[in-house]
Amino acid sequence: MDPGGTRIELTACRCSGSGIPFRVTGRPPATLELSPEVADARPGIAQPQLAGWGRIPAAGEELLSETLERATLGARLSRGLGRSYGDSSLPASAADRVVGTRLANRIVAFDEKTGVIRAEAGLSLAEMNRLFIPRGWFTPVTPGTKYVTLGGMVASDVHGKNHHIDGCFGAHVRWLRLRLADDSVVECSPTQYADLFYGTIGGMGLLGHVLEVEFAFHRISSPWLWMESERVPGVDEFLGSLGRAAAAFPMSMGWIDCLSRGQSMGRGIMMAGRWATHEEAPSTPPVEAKKKSFPADLPNFALNRVTAKLFNMAYYWRHVRRRRAGIVAPDPFFYPLDAILDWNRAYGSRGFTQYQCVLPRAAGAPAVRDFMQLLTRLGGASPLCVIKDCGPEGRGVLSFPLEGTSIAVDMAMAPDLQRIIDRLNEFVIAAKGRIYLSKDRFTRAEHFRAMEPRLATFLSLREKWDPRHRLRSAQSVRLFGDKV
Ligand SMILES: Cc1cc2nc3c(=O)[nH]c(=O)nc-3n(C[C@H](O)[C@H](O)[C@H](O)COP(=O)(O)OP(=O)(O)OC[C@H]3O[C@@H](n4cnc5c(N)ncnc54)[C@H](O)[C@@H]3O)c2cc1C
Repeated sequence: MDPGGTRIELTACRCSGSGIPFRVTGRPPATLELSPEVADARPGIAQPQLAGWGRIPAAGEELLSETLERATLGARLSRGLGRSYGDSSLPASAADRVVGTRLANRIVAFDEKTGVIRAEAGLSLAEMNRLFIPRGWFTPVTPGTKYVTLGGMVASDVHGKNHHIDGCFGAHVRWLRLRLADDSVVECSPTQYADLFYGTIGGMGLLGHVLEVEFAFHRISSPWLWMESERVPGVDEFLGSLGRAAAAFPMSMGWIDCLSRGQSMGRGIMMAGRWATHEEAPSTPPVEAKKKSFPADLPNFALNRVTAKLFNMAYYWRHVRRRRAGIVAPDPFFYPLDAILDWNRAYGSRGFTQYQCVLPRAAGAPAVRDFMQLLTRLGGASPLCVIKDCGPEGRGVLSFPLEGTSIAVDMAMAPDLQRIIDRLNEFVIAAKGRIYLSKDRFTRAEHFRAMEPRLATFLSLREKWDPRHRLRSAQSVRLFGDKV
């Protein structure tokens, strides 16, 4: 065990059978060469506590292991790269066994004709992009950071800029291998233990530890993207622009200035894109820019209403021409925030949360406008506010998206944060929307119950597959009342 609280367990490489024809496997133990996203697993770096991306810590330690099947025996929670903002990847109690999956990252099988891949749950999206984009394949769905694991993508049922076309990641998953709460290992799919399969997709790790995942990559026409962006002066125009972009492009989203008021409330930059055709793409592959790291925690006062407003104004007007179009590489298109590692230190040691909700299409543009108004009135928002058009609800029992508009906004820790989130949740409940558990840290159990008609189904699945609630997290204690 290292001095900080992360234990590392190494084993010889193994290859499990899969029945898929072409195999890429037998990679050496991942610890021989640590990629940036697992580098913090190096012995000697203190990690007395665990935290999600929002940096609000909880006491506990994680066991990093290359062999999930063994490490998950008796474990109460799995976690990947800790990119969920809130407490979903944090232990309910410091004594709980938490497995960190990121060293278990072998590709078990890959079929180069169909793009079907089977891999261990700790494989990161960064690694998949590195290996497969040059070969003409891309994950069917990607979130806004590539520093996530396959297990985390399943447990959160992540969505991306193409949700209105391709749904969530879970819609492309064909098979899962799970360690259940009773310590048995089962395989499930849409035709085998389908209730367990759909409960696990978006189930925040509470029905089983994901050991292996099988899904199909999408073919891409080139490793480059065609992107169009537009500066939009206010919230109503923004919603129109979002609708037009969603109809014309497979991928779309926008950055919104949620600090400006009056006429310019909800102004922002709309972005849309598609994979570039072979003819449009440059003849050389994209080169990944060298990553910069955020050097230190900023003081807590550095990001405040005034600095955030100045940042927003500069970001908005940086888009000098109203419309822009051109070829871009995947990283700046999909993962602009990943350009600076550890950017979450900008919020200082106090930490932060992200509030993400979806307002149903039926509530219409007035609901989005009223929500933006409420948000600007309540304060607390930071420069990061993302708006996105979502397509129909998927089959994951607790999956987040539903047809409508999703709004995600970062908020620094502050004494009135709970009050702000309560107020936003009351609005979302009245609009028949819901929040995203992967981002959440502050929603009250009664609010979650009121906004989530599928909760009873999920809880009955838990009663069936884990009646003693052995699998639990800090979030399941807060929202489902699990006993500690
Ligand atoms: C900058 C940024 C942008 C983001 N953009 C998006 C976005 O566009 N769309 C989106 O959907 N999400 C987005 N997210 C959220 C992120 O995609 C999810 O939180 C994702 O689950 C994180 O993956 P992870 O491997 O870090 O999992 P963790 O954060 O470590 O864990 C997340 C949840 O998954 C569970 N889990 C992890 N591994 C396993 C396993 N093997 N078995 C069972 N349960 C497991 C954990 O218990 C926890 O409940 C973003 C996050 C960041 C920081």
